[in-house]
Amino acid sequence: MDAMPERNDIRIARWQGAATAAVSLYYDDGTDSAFDLVVPSLVRRRLTGTFYLCCGWYKGPDDPKLARWGALARRHPGIVVLGEHTWGHGGGTSAEGLADAIARNGALLREMSGLPPRALLSFGRPGGCPWTLSREEEAAVLAAHGEFLRHDFGPENSGGPANFHREVAMHTFADAAAILDRAEQDGGWEALLFHGVGGDWIAFPASEHERILAEIDRRRAEGRLWCGAAIAVHKYAAERDAARLETVAAPEGALAAARLSVATDPALFDEPLTLEADVPRDRDSVAVETAPADGAPPSSLRAPAVDGLARFDVPPRAASIAVR
Ligand SMILES: [Zn+2]
Repeated sequence: MDAMPERNDIRIARWQGAATAAVSLYYDDGTDSAFDLVVPSLVRRRLTGTFYLCCGWYKGPDDPKLARWGALARRHPGIVVLGEHTWGHGGGTSAEGLADAIARNGALLREMSGLPPRALLSFGRPGGCPWTLSREEEAAVLAAHGEFLRHDFGPENSGGPANFHREVAMHTFADAAAILDRAEQDGGWEALLFHGVGGDWIAFPASEHERILAEIDRRRAEGRLWCGAAIAVHKYAAERDAARLETVAAPEGALAAARLSVATDPALFDEPLTLEADVPRDRDSVAVETAPADGAPPSSLRAPAVDGLARFDVPPRAASIAVR
């Protein structure tokens, strides 16, 4: 007979994939170097970047310099993710101004990306332009447009050349790797911000950028990092914080069972939640049965179990879950 573990329950993992920490890669202003050099490297490694674009900088949606980003986002969903950077890199002096600066831009970004009109977007506040709105005023305008400010980070997370002004503190692979270390130590979420890479403006060295992508890839493979789009990590954190997982008596033959309730709207907050279940150590896989509370057909999947721990993803909606 199996020896049952002491904690025979199911938990929501802090980050998707039960990674120790999360990291997001931000690329502002849609630079040519990001397009030419960063995107192929991300695609090759299946790492995700969020590219913050100002559509008003182009001649129109058919301008090849803009349309190419939409083509990439559709071809590589979840790898190339477009973010809100306002229509013309401004709009921060009034609520009406910001609403105008993001409404058109956001609509075009969603359309270009092949996303539904209400899809949530990450907002990267443009730098170097007047910004007098309070955080509260800014957040209210963003929320009304289905957008969320990308989370705060310090100047040390901002990449650039060594001779750029002193606020830009991330110049090397070692600088960026130290931020990854901090994320893992805290179990938190860090961002690395870039503009140009190996060219264009505020250029971070291309070779150092390659090294940090390889490092993120390595740490991801070891389960240490989740490299998620800004909006994906935002959604996951919101879902996780609004979710409850109540352990219930396991039905006949099941190892564990729980009832998941989620207060976020699954139509908008749609990032899969990662659950962890304690299972007997001699099991190397489990069957996970999910019965949605809305009466949708139940589903079943098989998940690996390693050292008495099974990890699997479920949709972020109310359901009964049984592990067998
Ligand atoms: Zn910018």
